[in-house]
Amino acid sequence: MPTVRSVFPPVYDRLLPPELDREALAEPRATCAECAMCPKPGAIAGTDHFQPDLKCCTFHPTLPNYLAGAILADGGEGAARLRAKIAARVGVSPWWLASPRKYRLLLTASQNAAFGKAPSLLCPYFERTSARCTIWRHREAVCATFFCKYERGAVGRASWKALQGYITHLEMSFGEDAVRALAPDAVPEGVKPGTLTREDLEDRPPGDETYAKMWGPWAGREEELYRAAHAHVGALSGDDVSRISGDRGAELLAAFSAAHDEAVAPVLRATLRKNPDMDESPADGGVTVATYSSYDPVHLTADLWAIVGLFDGASPVADVRARLRTEHDVVVPDELLLELQNRRVLT
Ligand code: SF4
Ligand code: SF4
Repeated sequence: MPTVRSVFPPVYDRLLPPELDREALAEPRATCAECAMCPKPGAIAGTDHFQPDLKCCTFHPTLPNYLAGAILADGGEGAARLRAKIAARVGVSPWWLASPRKYRLLLTASQNAAFGKAPSLLCPYFERTSARCTIWRHREAVCATFFCKYERGAVGRASWKALQGYITHLEMSFGEDAVRALAPDAVPEGVKPGTLTREDLEDRPPGDETYAKMWGPWAGREEELYRAAHAHVGALSGDDVSRISGDRGAELLAAFSAAHDEAVAPVLRATLRKNPDMDESPADGGVTVATYSSYDPVHLTADLWAIVGLFDGASPVADVRARLRTEHDVVVPDELLLELQNRRVLT
C-alpha cells in the first residue's frame, strides 16, 4: 500500500522522517479522473457541481523555490507555464513562485460561492482541455493533501490537514534555508500581509528597483536560482532537516501522527448525540445531511435517521443500543456507529 511519504514530490524521498512511512489513508471516493464533484455525462449541472474543465483546481498554489526548480528541471508543459510566470514577475521572489496577492484576497472572499466554478480562479498550471495538472509530480502541500470527500469523514480530513500543516512548514523552512545559502543578500518585498500595492491592484509586477533589490545578483537568472535551490534541498541530510524545521516542525509532526492514528483506529465515544448543526434535506426514502463538509453529504434511510434521533448526548451509547435491542430488536454494529461518528452525523 502507498505510504504517506509516497504522496509527496521526489525531492522529499530521503528527507521526510520515518513517521511518514505509515500507510497513506486511501480516498477512493475522490475519483479525480472521473471527478466526483462534476456532473455525470448527460446530467444537468447543479449548483453544487464543479465544472469538469476546472474541477477543484480553482486554486493558485505558492511553490517554494526548490519545487519550482524541480519543475523546471523536468521540462515539458509545466516548465513552460512556470517560465511564463517568471517572465511576468508577479509573485516571483527568491523564496517562492507565489500566487498573486490580489488573487489570494479574491479567493478568500469568493471561495464558498465560486470554488470549482469560476474560470477566473483557475490554476495557471491546469491544462483545461485534458483537465490535468501539468506539475503534478512536484505539487505543493495544499494540492497534495486536498480531497473533496474523505473516506473516514472528519477524522480523515483532520489527518490530511495536519499533514498539510507539517509539509507547509517544511516548504517555508527549506525555502528559507536555500535563500540563506544561495542568495543571502536577497531583500523581501516587505508588503504587509493582507494588503495590496498599486501594482498588485493593476496586475503589474513590482517596480524595477524593488525587483532588483529582491533578487540582487540573481536578477535575470531566476530559473538558475530555483534549480540551485532544488539541488540544495535535495542534498540536505536528516540532521539538517531536524535542525531547519526546528521545534515547530517536531510539534507539527507529532500533531500529524496523533491525527493519523485517530483516523486509522477511531475510538467510539461513550456518549453521542445527533449533530445539532447539520443541514438536513428530505431525500428519496430518507434524508440527506451535510455535516463536516458540504462536498460530502451523507444519505440516511428513514430507519437510520430515526435511530440517529435516539442519541441525545445524555444517555450512554451502551444504554441507547440496549434499548434498541430490547424494544425494537435492532442491533447497531460498532462499524455503523463509528461511521456516523466519523462523518459527524453523531457528535
Ligand atoms: S479531489 Fe478534486 S479532482 Fe478529485 S474528485 Fe474531488 S473535486 Fe474532483
Ligand atoms: S498545481 Fe495542479 S493540482 Fe494544484 S491546483 Fe494547480 S493544477 Fe490543480
